[in-house]
Amino acid sequence: MLLEVRDLHVEFRTRDGVAKAVNGVSYGVDAGETLAVLGESGSGKSVTAQAVMGILDMPPGRITGGEVFFQGKDVLKLKEEERRRLRGYGMAMIFQDALSALNPVLSVGDQLGEMFVVHRRMSKKDARAKAVELMDRVRIPGAAERVRDYPHQFSGGMRQRIMIAMALALEPALIIADEPTTALDVTVQAQVMDLLAELQREYHMGLILITHDLGVVADVADRIAVMYAGKIVESAPVHDIYKSPAHPYTRGLLDSIPRLDQKGQELYAIKGLPPNLMNIPPGCAFHPRCPMAQDVCRTDVPPLYEVSEERGSACHFWRECLHG
Ligand code: SF4
Ligand code: MG
Repeated sequence: MLLEVRDLHVEFRTRDGVAKAVNGVSYGVDAGETLAVLGESGSGKSVTAQAVMGILDMPPGRITGGEVFFQGKDVLKLKEEERRRLRGYGMAMIFQDALSALNPVLSVGDQLGEMFVVHRRMSKKDARAKAVELMDRVRIPGAAERVRDYPHQFSGGMRQRIMIAMALALEPALIIADEPTTALDVTVQAQVMDLLAELQREYHMGLILITHDLGVVADVADRIAVMYAGKIVESAPVHDIYKSPAHPYTRGLLDSIPRLDQKGQELYAIKGLPPNLMNIPPGCAFHPRCPMAQDVCRTDVPPLYEVSEERGSACHFWRECLHG
């Protein structure tokens, strides 16, 4: 396993109390595999990724338990210096908002080139050539000229391609993309997602795709881990999930994907709001919103039941859900 997260816990201490953002998350991704981590905002999907990358805001964020193994090493035990080296060479991250992630006063060529000057000790001229090559690689038209342009001179989709180029520069073994296409319009979303999937296959990288939108990952993910209130509530191969979800929350997410054949119809939305992480409901955290909730759900925390060898669901009634 390229990356393995085991029973990770993260808390945020705030003036109003302790927010339990991640409450025992375990997942893994292999080289050449794509794991989609799905959930509403506040489900802990980004915080888990930030803990893995070692870029958690701390304080107030604190890892209170668990292990993160990357290429066999427990990265939570590494010194900050070693962790910094790991970012870039080992794992790289792509963010939603390229405009704030890129430096506005440096040309994209200089930003891409800097990676090679700093990490590979290349000359400025060679680094510039590498920058053009990378921009070509992510299919930015006219790369040789556009290498002198600044981030604001590119469209949102093109900027996201530049972010992908930055992440790819040092050929990391793992890329974590946090809502990489959320800010883009639907057609551009699909193009950027396809590009990311293509490069992932070509470089045989592990890819973790964080999203709130089950619709965008259907074609690219191998596995899906669904998060709710800082826990994984369902984990399964992508086709299993689309065929029939084994958790009512996953079912709700599936039912809220807009479908072409239902144009004009009102979209299903999961009722209620995500829980307050300072006061997570007892029993199954989803019970106040769950259409299948029974008394036991209000008192007993569901473990991650084994649905099949490759599949888990944290619902007492996963059988009913699966066949319902
Ligand atoms: Fe719903 Fe109960 Fe299953 Fe939780 S355990 S998802 S409340 S049926
Ligand atoms: Mg997020």
